Amino acid sequence: MIRVMRKAPGVGLAAPQIGVPLRIIVLEDTKEYVSYVPKEEAKVQDRRAFDLLVILNPKLEKKGKRTALFFEGCLSVDGFRAVVERHLDVEVTGLDRYGAPIKINAYGWQARILQHECDHLDGTIYVDKMVPRTFRTVDNLDLPLAQGCPKLGPC
Ligand SMILES: [Zn+2]
Repeated sequence: MIRVMRKAPGVGLAAPQIGVPLRIIVLEDTKEYVSYVPKEEAKVQDRRAFDLLVILNPKLEKKGKRTALFFEGCLSVDGFRAVVERHLDVEVTGLDRYGAPIKINAYGWQARILQHECDHLDGTIYVDKMVPRTFRTVDNLDLPLAQGCPKLGPC
């Protein structure tokens, strides 16, 4: 899973995406990936690099009420993006790859990745939660949002 995620490249992968019927997610956001995002954008998204995480049987709990709207994509829906509202603060518990219990308190972009990957384990992908009129190809990512779409950023 780590190899597939890195080769894609992506910042997260859930086992069912590659046909493995287990509740496992991997995620990683490198300094290099973050450096490709304009500084202002990374700041608004609260996106920071973090080390590889492997989580078995993750349980995600949303913390607080703060949410944000940003575009996201998925390796299983290649070439497209859409705006999804996600919680800004989550706590994930589970086991690491050696079977030891772990607990991650995540916020911002990492919290978004965790919600996205945990959704995969229940057969939900971002298009099930997107703001439909924001769905677009990667090539059209920078086009203005259609009328009536909510503004990007914290809600
Ligand atoms: Zn995905």
